[in-house]
Amino acid sequence: MESLNSPIVRSPAFFADAMLGRLARWLRMLGYDTSYEKVISDEALIARVLAEHRWLLTRDSYLVQRKVLRDRQTLIASDHLQDQLRQLQSELHITFDLSDGTPSRCASCNKILTVIPHQKAAPTVPEYVASLHPRFVQCPSCGQIYWPGTHWTQMLTRLHELRTS
Ligand SMILES: [Zn+2]
Repeated sequence: MESLNSPIVRSPAFFADAMLGRLARWLRMLGYDTSYEKVISDEALIARVLAEHRWLLTRDSYLVQRKVLRDRQTLIASDHLQDQLRQLQSELHITFDLSDGTPSRCASCNKILTVIPHQKAAPTVPEYVASLHPRFVQCPSCGQIYWPGTHWTQMLTRLHELRTS
């Protein structure tokens, strides 16, 4: 497998099928360019994966058996997010380390998030969040503001434990 060491552009780029919406949102926040469509035909899905040079993540064993994408696909075994991420970690040897600890792509739009000044974020988030977090990032497309909240930090800790256990 090619080197996956770059901290900024992470590879592979993924395409998550309709049953993997939650996984797609997390992969985006964890820095992986991930396409996702709620409603898409198998043929359109395969065409997009090929055209965009992506790696298919699917819960559909029939689609995998057809081998249209040869090895550029992973059949996700579990319905649970934690197990899904664990499977990607062990089978694709991808990392979920984030140098600055904040989400790096928008969970909704897949756009790369940009750091915004604290005084710009503070009025738009709960007061305790503004006082607790020095660093906020924002989606240039939908405007959503992100910070490393409890849920996020717990997930990073668990992913780190999985990797080192
Ligand atoms: Zn967005």
